[in-house]
Amino acid sequence: MVFGGLEKFTLIDYPGKIACMVYTIGCNFRCPYCHNPELVDETTDVHISEREFYDFLDARKGMLDGVVITGGEPTIHADLPQVMREIKTRGFLVKLDSNGTHPAILRDAIRDGIVDFVAMDIKSPLATYGATVARPVDTEAIRESIDILMTSGIDYEFRTTIIKSMLSPEDLEQIGREIRGAKTYVLQKFVPTKILNPQFRNKVTYSDEEFKQFQKILTTYVDQCLIR
Ligand code: SF4
Repeated sequence: MVFGGLEKFTLIDYPGKIACMVYTIGCNFRCPYCHNPELVDETTDVHISEREFYDFLDARKGMLDGVVITGGEPTIHADLPQVMREIKTRGFLVKLDSNGTHPAILRDAIRDGIVDFVAMDIKSPLATYGATVARPVDTEAIRESIDILMTSGIDYEFRTTIIKSMLSPEDLEQIGREIRGAKTYVLQKFVPTKILNPQFRNKVTYSDEEFKQFQKILTTYVDQCLIR
């Protein structure tokens, strides 16, 4: 695998851990609010080889707890499990950020003990997924990934980036129903910075007060609902 970026240090991307974050190239979705357009459309001019990345990790032993693998969408790469195994072999925890389109990769990685934490995006209620991500979606696969994580025994979170014009309060409650019983659900405020579709730069999210209201409602569906 060739990586499209490396953040050498982060305290916020792996809950409770000191980590680095590596970015994979390419994605099977086209979420208009995506913050990593150069990875999604594969125009990034950053290219880091696996060898360079492992050398970096070897030099950070004892200084970092874990590695966050994000993207793009990491699970579109057939060699992702091998990368996770290499990271685990070096003694680091592995957190995977995924859109949940490849449940078999999640299932096998959990079975093989090569992933410790999965953060899965929930883009919208299942019924409107395709319109949200601007690509055809196998929602059965999304459903399966949700179920795999909820019964896995590993740490996980579901999370949704919220743009007011794309997700209504009813949509958010419907997501709550679809992940009922989940451990953690994170409501993420949309921040219009560098994004895939420039027309979305003037889109807004809900007010802090409205977020608190959503949090209250969604806490009736999941163990813990966080605002980020
Ligand atoms: S937000 Fe995630 S799933 Fe959506 S296009 Fe960007 S990288 Fe892909």
